Amino acid sequence: MKTVLIGVGQAGGKLTTALQSFDRQMGFGAVLDAVAVNTAKADLQSLPVETVLIGQDRVNGHGVGGDNELGAEVMESDQTEVMSALDGRVTAEAESIFVVAGLGGGSGSGGAPVLAKALRRVYDVPVYVLGILPGQDEGAMYQVNAGRSLKTIARESDAVLLVDNDAFRSSGESMSEGYDAINEAIARRVGLLLAAGEATEGVGESVVDTSEVINTLRSGGIAALGYASAEASPDAEDNINTVMSTTRRAVLTGTSLPDASDADSALVIVAGEPDTIPRKGVERARRWVEEETGSLQVRGGDFPLESGRLASLVLLGGVERSERVESFMERAREAIDQAKTETREDPKEMWHNDDLDDLL
Ligand code: GDP
Repeated sequence: MKTVLIGVGQAGGKLTTALQSFDRQMGFGAVLDAVAVNTAKADLQSLPVETVLIGQDRVNGHGVGGDNELGAEVMESDQTEVMSALDGRVTAEAESIFVVAGLGGGSGSGGAPVLAKALRRVYDVPVYVLGILPGQDEGAMYQVNAGRSLKTIARESDAVLLVDNDAFRSSGESMSEGYDAINEAIARRVGLLLAAGEATEGVGESVVDTSEVINTLRSGGIAALGYASAEASPDAEDNINTVMSTTRRAVLTGTSLPDASDADSALVIVAGEPDTIPRKGVERARRWVEEETGSLQVRGGDFPLESGRLASLVLLGGVERSERVESFMERAREAIDQAKTETREDPKEMWHNDDLDDLL
């Protein structure tokens, strides 16, 4: 799936850069271009992509300090600048646009829904959001911000591919120590998903194409992505169990959103050397995902790749009813009172909402 990435906020900019460099390093060419947008000048300075500083008249390049309402307002008033930076970058080749943002902060949390809405009005291709949920031990304000942002982007985008920061964190590691590793893990998974539909040269009909990714996300709402890999045996027949076990691990322990296996639709992609991919294994894995997700819309296919390993990549669409999403929304609601206390000294008194109101 050829795509253009737009990172909003600090996490959005860093993850966008990680995604672009993974795509280049692998020589996939699925990422056509990348742009980073922020209200904080310092966070844009080190990024090797086109950057757009917004809200200079309001915050003078200093960021919105976790105020996602301000993040949304600033994006609203400066969206023309962002749109002009995209001119000529979203070419006819582009099959989607990804807005990338951490949902717990200010610029990305508030800016991403506004931008997604504006992009959908202008472009015909699907506009997806790659959104990052705060870890459980991040403060109440992060949880509330993410709850409000998530609710709004689920409505304003074609689908939200959700990543829980806790899903990729190594034990004992602080959140910030782990960011680079988390970003690399996300970049590998999402990078492979984007590239999977691009492998169309001289291949059989079992190879996945971009329309299957788009169709899996068609129901909208929230999506999750699972991944696991293992050593491949040279003979495909010997890899049936390997494909089954990597697929189970991808869904049960290797997902971007833990415990989210109730889904409306799914796509099972088995990546590896074509001669080592067992047809029977892919079909069996697809049927297992059907049972596990309770969905009858489970697609399956291959992604030919030069590698001594086999990987299962499982995209789950429509996971918003899953336990994980519900418990996160509950956590965000519970955090409202706490966030009000934490920000009592704030003259803006931004926590006047008595429930998780939409941002827009
Ligand atoms: P913004 O610049 O105001 O949009 O705020 P941030 O992008 O810093 O968003 C804060 C949220 O993003 C928090 O939940 C952080 O844990 C998370 N975050 C910040 N930087 C990164 C990063 O590089 N990677 C990941 N995965 N999460 C990040």
